[in-house]
Amino acid sequence: GATNRDPPSDAIILFDGSDKHAWNNAETWTVKDGVLIVGKGMIETKQTFGDCQLHVEWSSPLPAKGDGQGRGNSGVFFGPYEIQVLDSYKNITYPDGQCGALYGRAKPLVNASRAPGEWQTYDVTFHRPIFNEDGEVTRKAKFHVIHNGHVIHDNLELTGGTGWRGPHSISEYKKHGDKGPLKMQDHGNPVRFRNVWVVPIKD
Ligand code: MG
Repeated sequence: GATNRDPPSDAIILFDGSDKHAWNNAETWTVKDGVLIVGKGMIETKQTFGDCQLHVEWSSPLPAKGDGQGRGNSGVFFGPYEIQVLDSYKNITYPDGQCGALYGRAKPLVNASRAPGEWQTYDVTFHRPIFNEDGEVTRKAKFHVIHNGHVIHDNLELTGGTGWRGPHSISEYKKHGDKGPLKMQDHGNPVRFRNVWVVPIKD
């Protein structure tokens, strides 16, 4: 499709269809026919990143199984911050948990979801938060997210961390390092990934 993008020459390739060398904890994730299929547990990049641009392509299981949060759930994490991956094609769930949401924090501007089995793209520009010595955030994280060519977060400033907003959960900012791994989530569904690359941005 028109939104599939070849990596620019200065990109760091995280998955090009051949192997999992860029990832830790990926033993149970499978590479087959040029795609990476979710296995057991979250995988994370060996290299760490601060501000960056990420391109990732993913596809929900076909036929679709389950509903709500149980259908094609995975996630792309920038350090502790999750952009939800979910099959939100004719699949209702809570707004800040749908496909493209900054999970538990911000819903996407539009639902740009394609049907299960089709390839979808995220193009993300991430600016990390900055913390002072007391652990207070002095510059909030910013996300600009394009899903299948549609802007779903327009330079969104995160008001706090992401995560499920249960009655006992704390989702305020928690201090972390300048750089962290990029991660992909195992939520029990065999979501497929391909063409994953990142370009660090000078902070
Ligand atoms: Mg998820």
